[in-house]
Order: sequence, then C-alpha cells, then structure tokens
Amino acid sequence: MDTRPQPASQAQHWLSRLPYAALVLFVLLIGALIWLTQLHDEDSQRHSLISDALWMEQSLQFQLDRNAAQLAQLGPELVASEISTQTDARLRQLLRADNGLTRVIWLDRDGNILSMLPSLSEPSTPDGRRALQAVIDPDLSRLAATVGRPVYGPIYPAASGGHQFEVHIPAISDAGLLGISIGVYSLEGLLARELPWWFTEKYRVSVMDSEGNEVTTRSRAAPLSNAHTHTMTFDPPGHGLTLQITAYAGEIRWIPALLMTSILALAAILLWSFWQLRLQLKRRLAAEAALRGETLFRKAMEDSLLTGLRARDLTGRITYVNPAFCNMVGFSAQELIGLRPPMPYWHPEHIERLQEIHDMILSGQGPRAGVEVKLRRKNGDALDALIFEAPLIDASGRQTGWMGSIMDITERKRARELARQQDERLQATSRLITMGEMASTLAHELNQPLAAISTYNSGCLNLLTEGATDIDELRDVHEKIARQAYRAAAIIHRVHDFVRRSEPKRERIALNDVVREAVELMDADARKRQMRIVLHLAPGLPTLAADPVMIEQLVVNLVRNGMDAVAPLPADRRIISVTTQERNGNLILRVADRGPGIPPEQARRLFEPFFSTKEEGMGMGLNICRSIAELHRGRLSFEAGPDGGAVFILTLPVEMEPATA
Ligand code: ADP
Repeated sequence: MDTRPQPASQAQHWLSRLPYAALVLFVLLIGALIWLTQLHDEDSQRHSLISDALWMEQSLQFQLDRNAAQLAQLGPELVASEISTQTDARLRQLLRADNGLTRVIWLDRDGNILSMLPSLSEPSTPDGRRALQAVIDPDLSRLAATVGRPVYGPIYPAASGGHQFEVHIPAISDAGLLGISIGVYSLEGLLARELPWWFTEKYRVSVMDSEGNEVTTRSRAAPLSNAHTHTMTFDPPGHGLTLQITAYAGEIRWIPALLMTSILALAAILLWSFWQLRLQLKRRLAAEAALRGETLFRKAMEDSLLTGLRARDLTGRITYVNPAFCNMVGFSAQELIGLRPPMPYWHPEHIERLQEIHDMILSGQGPRAGVEVKLRRKNGDALDALIFEAPLIDASGRQTGWMGSIMDITERKRARELARQQDERLQATSRLITMGEMASTLAHELNQPLAAISTYNSGCLNLLTEGATDIDELRDVHEKIARQAYRAAAIIHRVHDFVRRSEPKRERIALNDVVREAVELMDADARKRQMRIVLHLAPGLPTLAADPVMIEQLVVNLVRNGMDAVAPLPADRRIISVTTQERNGNLILRVADRGPGIPPEQARRLFEPFFSTKEEGMGMGLNICRSIAELHRGRLSFEAGPDGGAVFILTLPVEMEPATA
C-alpha cells in the first residue's frame, strides 16, 4: 500500500514534469533564435541592398556629372570655328573612356549642327545632317541656353537598337551663348560600363519609365519573387525614370548556415538522447516496480511460512530470521540478529551437542537429511526442531553463509509418541486376547504338572504313613515334585512374560531363541489340535537389536494364523513350518503352511485393520505384525507356498539402528 504523504507525491509529480518543461523551453528558444537570426539576416541584406543601390546611383551620377563638366569645359572650343588638336585629343579620350557616352555633337548658337564625333558615315551629306538635326530636340538646347547649365533629355529608342538620351550643355563666354555641346549616351552602354561585375552578379538592375514599364535591364537571370527590391529615381537623366535594384536570392552565407545547422543537429541529438533517457527511465521504473512487487511477494511468502528461516554468515553470526522462527523460539528479530553461539534458544541440557552440530554445519559437514535438535523457547518450554541447512550463495556465486529452515516438530513428536503408546496398548490387548483364546489349553497344560505334583505328593504321604525310611526313595519323589513345579512355573512365567505390559525395550536378541519361546507357548495348543510345528532354524545367526516380546508376538500371530489355515486338513497334513536364515545382511523368518492359501481378492486387504474371514477373528493380527516389522525397520510380506498354502516372510536388517521410540 502506498503510504507516502500527498504533498511529497505532488512535488514528485512536478519534479517529473520539469524536464519536459525545460525541453519545451529549449525548443522555443532555438526556434526564436532561428527566427531572430533570419530577421537579422534579412535586415542586413536589406541594408546592404540599400547601401549598394545608393553607391550605384552616386557612381552613375558622378560619371554623368564628370562627363558634363568636361563637355562644358570643352564647349567654347568646340563651337569655335577651328578645333585645336589638344581639344580634339581630349574629346576623343573622353569618348574612348567607354562610359556610355557614344557621341558628342556641337551646335552653333542657332541650333545648327556644327560638327560631331564620331562623325556619321556620311557626315557631309545634307540628308544625314538633316536627319540628325531632326532628332535633336531644339527645346532642350534652348532650355540649356536659358538656364545656363546642362539639361538632360528623355530616353528614346536609338536607330542602332537600344535606348539613348542626350545632355545639352551650353557653351557660354563672357560675351554670351556661343553654342551648345550635346553628349549622346547609350543607356545600355552606360549601365554596362558603369556597373561593376560583382554588382550585376548580386543584383538585377532595371530602368523603368514613368509608367512602370521596364525600359532596359542588366540581369543574368530573372530574380526570385520574394527577393528584396529597392527603387529610386534615375536623375539625371530624370523624366520619371527610375532605377530598380533587386537582390538575387541564394547567396548562401556559410558561417551562419553552418552555425544554424550545428545548433539544429545538437538540438536533434539532445531531443533524441532525452527520448532515450526517458525510455530507459521507463524501463528502469518498470524493473523497479517488478522488483518491489517481487520483494513484497517474497516477504508475504516468508511471513506466511510456518517454517522458520534463519540465515548465518560464515562466522556463525545470525544475519536474518523470519517471523515464523521468531514465533517458534519466542525471541524477536532484534534480539537474535547479530548473535553468535551459544544461542539463547539452545536447550541448556543439549548445548554441547548443539555446538557440535553448529560446528559441523559451518565446516560444511552438516547432515543433508536434516538434524533433529532440542531447543528452548524464551518462556522455557522445550522445543523439538528439525533443521535443514543449505549454503547461501550471492550473485557472484560466492558462499556468504548458511540458510537454515527449522520445523517445529514438538507436536509431531508428541503425536508420534501417543500413537506409539496406543500401538503398544493395542499389541498388549492383542496378546491378552491371544492368551484368552489359549487359556483353556494352558489351564489343561498347567493341570498336568499340578496333577503330577498332587499324585507324587500322595505317593510321598503314603510312603511316610507306611513308615518308609528309604531316604533315597523320598528324595526321588521330591525331585519329581520339584521338576513338575518348575514346569508349572515355567508355563506361568512364559504366559506372564508374553502378556506383561512393559515399556518397549531394545536388547540384543537371538531370533531363534525367540522363535522357540513362541512355539513352546503354543505347543500345548498345537498338540491339542493335532498339529505339528516344525522348526528349521539356521544355526549361528547374528543377534538383533529388538524388543523380544514384540518379535515373539509376531511369531505367535503368524503361527496361529497358519494353525487356523491347516485346521480343516487331515491330521497328518496339519503342519506349520517355521524357518530362519540369514541372507544379504538380513535375518529372514518364514512361516509356511499347507492351508488353502490367500485368494487374490483378499491379498490386497490382508493387512487392513479389522479385516478377517474368521467367524471370531478380530482382524488385527497381521496389522499388528506389520507395525512391529516396520518399527524394527523390517518388512512383512507373503507369497504362495510351492506346494500350496501361504508363506509369510519377515525380513529384519541385522545392522539396523536401534529403532527410536
Ligand atoms: P484374524 O486372524 O483375527 O482373522 P489376521 O489379521 O491375523 O486376523 O488375519 C486376517 C485374515 O488373513 C484372516 O482372517 C485370514 O483370512 C487371512 N489369513 C491370515 N493368515 C493366513 C494364512 N496362513 N492362510 C490363509 N489365510 C490367512
């Protein structure tokens, strides 16, 4: 259950949102930066466009002004009747300067053409002159003469193609107007000569008329539609002409572009790594949640375990105990963790053995099948426990200690003891019943020595009455009496031994002796029922650690069952044979009869309690026999005899440990 306080979780919630907010902010900032850079870029491009346009305008103006000034200077000489060689040379130099000026014409005061340079192909023909004269606007010349400074004319198509315009410059002396010099410019020529290559690489330059139509242009390609444009008046020559300068797009400015690309690439890498980090975090959180779930599951499992768990390091110090172990011994985990032997839950009477077991486990020699120990609870109650130890291995495969699982077997042991006592009582009862069944035979058996004693005693009395003095004869009679009394006592003793109820005891017994005792007990009954019990006892058998009364009871039961089985047979076939032998470290007892044998449908139920086919049978005999065999770590089975009948086989291990009660 999540018991964290609400504010903490809210703070965590905000904290988890923080990286996202930072990321959004970062993206916005990058966007703004790009936008601002672009703005700045455009601004600087516009600035450079304007300053370049101004430069171009000034440069054109400067060129036109300079030409006008030179023409003004040469004017008086040109209109004079004779042109000096020097003036001619200067004029030719001016025309050769290749600055758009294509021709210079000079007129007299009345507007008639005096001469021109270069001269027309047929300059002297009156038609050529007339044609040229017709082209020259006399109004412009007049205006120039009136205002006394250069006057520019409008643009008009040239006969040779392209466009041209004129500048009329008055030649004035102190005496007044001498004539007019006219400079004829080719518009295309002016633009071609005066604009440097880098300018036309960068910009498209157009000349527009007053109606916005393009007159001419200096361009290597059509500009892009969104390119920057700057328009200004083209004066001189004026007359509504404008110059339009449009920047070509596509000039890549490498350093800012590189910078921007790097920023974008870095931003992309940042976003990607943030995304990866987020994925990794998600995976890690999922793994943590799974681990937490696993831990809780494990803890719930450990807490619900009834088996105690106790971990120790390699020095024997307790490092962990589970709740079941604490409940078992009554000490809390805090009281136990960190302790070294002797532990407070060790039973004081068994400290030495417990220390031995502890040392054995730490040296890796602990019994694999577990070990039973006697412990003591905190309240002083004794506790029987079964301990299994396993090595504790860490993630690197190194042993770090031992983990012991401890089971409280106090109750189990008590129940086992109770069952044993009940078994014992049942066996004793069964023996009494057997005796009860044989009582009349035994009484008869006992009667014989008693009758003999009585007879001998009467004979003795008669001898005494007759005054017999033969001591030897009297002694003989008394010895006979004593023998019979001994015989009677032996019978009583045997019966007593058989039915006495004592604590089961383990002692070294000779199996053959026990068999003989049992057969003697039944001998009278057998004789009475005209049966024979034949013994085939192998000599020199090893002794067994067993309870003699129990083994005797087992033999009596088997022999009595055999006697019951042969009862219906003719007297000469009423034989029960009892055999003992040693084989493969086991002592084997076989009780065989020639009776009807065991039908298969009964075979399965033979050892069940209260299963009997006899009218007065109780059906406990074989069940008790099997319990006795198992108590001695042996086995009781049966098979069909070679000549019919049944053979019951008891197998007891010779080297068996004394059975624990
Ligand atoms: P009970 O003798 O009181 O019947 P047991 O447990 O000794 O009880 O025997 C159970 C049954 O096993 C007998 O009733 C009998 O049917 C069968 N049984 C035991 N021993 C023999 C045997 N030697 N031959 C045939 N049947 C036998």
